[in-house]
Amino acid sequence: MSALLEVEGLQKHFPVRSGVFNRITGAIRVVEGVSFSVDKGKTFALVGESGCGKTTAGRTILRLHEPTGGSVRLAGVDLAALEGEGLRTARRDMQMVFQNPFGSLNPRMKVGKLLEEPLVVHGIASGKRAQEMVDAMMEKVGLAAEFGRRYPHQFSGGQRQRIAIARALMCSPKLVIADEPVSALDVSIQSQILNLLVDLRTELGLTYVFISHDLNVVRRISDAIGVMYLGRLVERAETGALYERPLHPYSEALLSAVPSLEPSKRKERIILSGDVPNPASPPPGCVFHPRCPKAMEVCRRSVPPDKEPSPGRLVACHLY
Ligand code: SF4
Repeated sequence: MSALLEVEGLQKHFPVRSGVFNRITGAIRVVEGVSFSVDKGKTFALVGESGCGKTTAGRTILRLHEPTGGSVRLAGVDLAALEGEGLRTARRDMQMVFQNPFGSLNPRMKVGKLLEEPLVVHGIASGKRAQEMVDAMMEKVGLAAEFGRRYPHQFSGGQRQRIAIARALMCSPKLVIADEPVSALDVSIQSQILNLLVDLRTELGLTYVFISHDLNVVRRISDAIGVMYLGRLVERAETGALYERPLHPYSEALLSAVPSLEPSKRKERIILSGDVPNPASPPPGCVFHPRCPKAMEVCRRSVPPDKEPSPGRLVACHLY
């Protein structure tokens, strides 16, 4: 199977300015060398605590932020090399679904118009043909066609997320980046939206990057996972392998908070002290060392290189 999305050494730094001349005096390294690939039809999840850089990584992949370094290839095309019309066309192939659909749905537009708009903007369809495509998409996401005459505020949170998903899919994208798409929903509704995303992935041959802090949710939808800490990917593994045996102490701590249904597999919860450090002044050596229960002397002075303990698996830790 070939990779639809290839992310290599992605970096996103934001300048820090100070002084009367507002000169650049430093950089906040929000994404620092993230690499992964996703095969067509698969889901790769980016997980980590709030502030680990996963949302910025997602937005940088889509070039909603200009990358500072590294490369992103979609179906073999280098996105950094695209400008103007080429970039516009590529953007049609990559869509984002956000945590809060209210923020992405114009409250003054009826749902039918909201779904029609991308078709018109990209010159795909208009008039009767566009209406047929809108009706078909509403049915796909489980909404009655007559809902097209209502406004976003007339729907529940789960229905609004269905509308946001429908809008993202109107131009038949190849890649969808879903940023915490179920975090704001009740648990029962979360399940429905996750099932919908899984069904649509199969039906439409979609590929997802799924961003979440919730490892319970991620387990249900992802084929592989990248664990992020302070802008770095500290572990990358297939989902089953990561849940079975996390290698990085940070992954271990995150997964210890996920309840297991099998009593024999329940582990003692690892409580991490402190918060994610400020990315403007990351700790030396391994950036996780101030919070790591397994930190050694070497961790304080030397950055752990990426190791590949088994094919396709990555861990950045001096223990390996
Ligand atoms: Fe912990 Fe050291 Fe591994 Fe970092 S390199 S995760 S501090 S053991």
